[in-house]
Amino acid sequence: MTQVFIISAPSGSGKSTLVNAIKSLVDRLEFSVSYTTRSPRGSEEDGREYYYTSREVFERMIAKGEFLEHANVFGNYYGTAKKFLDDAIVRGHDLLLDIDVQGASQLQVSLPDAVSIFILPPNKQELENRLRRRSSAERMTDEAVIQRRLETATREIEKYEEYDYILVNDQLGDSIDSLKAIILTERLKAAGRYPTRADEHMLAELARSRRLENVKPSLGPILDSFRKTTV
Ligand code: ADP
Ligand code: 5GP
Repeated sequence: MTQVFIISAPSGSGKSTLVNAIKSLVDRLEFSVSYTTRSPRGSEEDGREYYYTSREVFERMIAKGEFLEHANVFGNYYGTAKKFLDDAIVRGHDLLLDIDVQGASQLQVSLPDAVSIFILPPNKQELENRLRRRSSAERMTDEAVIQRRLETATREIEKYEEYDYILVNDQLGDSIDSLKAIILTERLKAAGRYPTRADEHMLAELARSRRLENVKPSLGPILDSFRKTTV
């Protein structure tokens, strides 16, 4: 049975970096390419990062019920086409969706068995550093865009309790290992199997340590770094 993995994170936390890394590490996992009305950024290509469409086309797709979920993020539409899930089901593959917190809460209603993962940056300052590094690498530093993403992050982070797993993306290697452990452990669970081999036990233990209830007690300093206002 096809499993759906939902990943959300404030922009700049490292979600795309993590998702790209996991592509070569986990088999039978497909990645949904969303539709968006925003313009391509940097070296992005139509059909690879997103399908770039006009508002008219997007609104027609909404009217025809072609989206599994859709949302307005940073003033643009973003949506996951139902077709991606249908195709993954036909191929017997799992599906990974990189969507914002609004899309994730829509899917938690329509796909209650989906496994959800929230990625947090180590703190607000590090999120800002990453946003700045990325935008200077793309030669697109726009202060207003960075400030807007930081404000949105502050709101999005408050939704972390709606997710099954929390990954604090500090050391990239650790985050990749944890994401892999979550996916493989959830697959085992869906197949009705308990970990038997030593490697399966290790993965299950790592995944368990990333469950919301186990991570929550240590999140205070991260949440505080976003809640504090500077004067
Ligand atoms: P997102 O997809 O969440 O918007 P990106 O994957 O584009 O974020 O990452 C934002 C920036 O942070 C990129 O420059 C990326 O190389 C960097 N980055 C990602 N993960 C880490 C990490 N664990 N430590 C340091 N920098 C990271
Ligand atoms: P970006 O413009 O930085 O690529 O993405 C901005 C935000 O839109 C991110 O939080 C990303 O997860 C979200 N996003 C991308 N695709 C979708 C989608 O299909 N649906 C929803 N709801 N959000 C999406």
